[in-house]
Amino acid sequence: AVNMLHLEQQIGILKIGTIWPPPSHLIRAYLKQAKDVLFVEEIDPFLEDQVKVLYAEHASKLGAVSFYGKNTGDIYGPSGPGVGEMNTDIVLDALGRIFNKEISACASPYEDARKQASILLVPREVAFCDGCPHRASFLAIKAALELDGRKGFVVGDIGCYGLGAGPTGFNQIKALHCMGSGMGNACGFSQMASFGFNQPVVAVIGDSTFFHAGLPALINAAFNKADGLFIVLDNAVTAMTGFQVNPASPFTATGKATRPVLAEDIARSVGAKITVLDPIEDIQESIHAVYAALQEEGLRFLVFRRPCATFEKKTRAAEEILKARIDPESCIGEICGCNRFCSRVLACPSIQYDKDKDRAFINEDTCNGCGLCVQLCPRQAISLVNIQKEGRSA
Ligand code: SF4
Ligand code: SF4
Repeated sequence: AVNMLHLEQQIGILKIGTIWPPPSHLIRAYLKQAKDVLFVEEIDPFLEDQVKVLYAEHASKLGAVSFYGKNTGDIYGPSGPGVGEMNTDIVLDALGRIFNKEISACASPYEDARKQASILLVPREVAFCDGCPHRASFLAIKAALELDGRKGFVVGDIGCYGLGAGPTGFNQIKALHCMGSGMGNACGFSQMASFGFNQPVVAVIGDSTFFHAGLPALINAAFNKADGLFIVLDNAVTAMTGFQVNPASPFTATGKATRPVLAEDIARSVGAKITVLDPIEDIQESIHAVYAALQEEGLRFLVFRRPCATFEKKTRAAEEILKARIDPESCIGEICGCNRFCSRVLACPSIQYDKDKDRAFINEDTCNGCGLCVQLCPRQAISLVNIQKEGRSA
């Protein structure tokens, strides 16, 4: 925004690395040179408030300064002052007003570039990655709840699996609040039995969130004799925020091999009934495990454990590279009676549909070879092949 308005000679930028405690000497030195200060920060006006307090304490030595930011309405979010990401347009708008500059002419090259880029973007649904274990976990939960037939529902938590609220997770999550809330909410619902509430409640939580914020809810549930099914979706890494390690990971933050802490060991110690399985390896078994857990009473703890497909792809040794492949002779597309279950319902992004040929096909560049689709095609048209044996690499 500064460059676009050609204000490089008039504006200094102070980028704060640590906002608490604020670097007061540095900020005071900058305030001494400034007449106008614009705060470019997301969410709440935290830095803005801190700097104003600092200024008030030293105003006599700093001279007059005008402040612009969230509190003055000069910096806003797309859906309100504290909501949404910062972008160039917001800063351009604020600087244009402060410096009384016409911004539409300056903004046009940026707008043109944005329009050009948007033409190149392929429209995509927000979806679990190719081979993501959460797809199988939510499919198993959905099938088991339907088999159970008591209008059971899922309460979610914060992580990749929050997408379980949308089509990629078969719209299973019905409530999603803050970290650690899923198991707490499920515990609360289970206490409503005395008011006639009798729907099964399933809480899903990822491994990272479980260790970070789920433990108090688990202990509270055990202590208060909760009646619910808690499912930990353990993919061994904090995938949503960039594959940071957590206590379920096989290596430490400095990369040393370590023994992962098993969520079920903790749950067992508070008396929960435990089931652990890979959600993809045998999808029928996964459905059965959730269904069986739904039929029991008390605190039930099921762990769906399988590493994050995207992280594994980045780190695994390439001894065997599996890809799914569809036999066009066996696949009969729209008329197969399965409504193209693979591409329409399961909707792994690697499975695509050729409308002209009326056949599904797999994008082998992106397929992770998890094998879930192989188990679900009613025509047995899909198989896994080891492309290493074909002399190819991923
Ligand atoms: S094996 Fe099937 S479900 Fe798994 S990543 Fe490949 S196409 Fe997707
Ligand atoms: S691959 Fe199987 S599930 Fe997919 S469209 Fe063909 S027959 Fe149907």
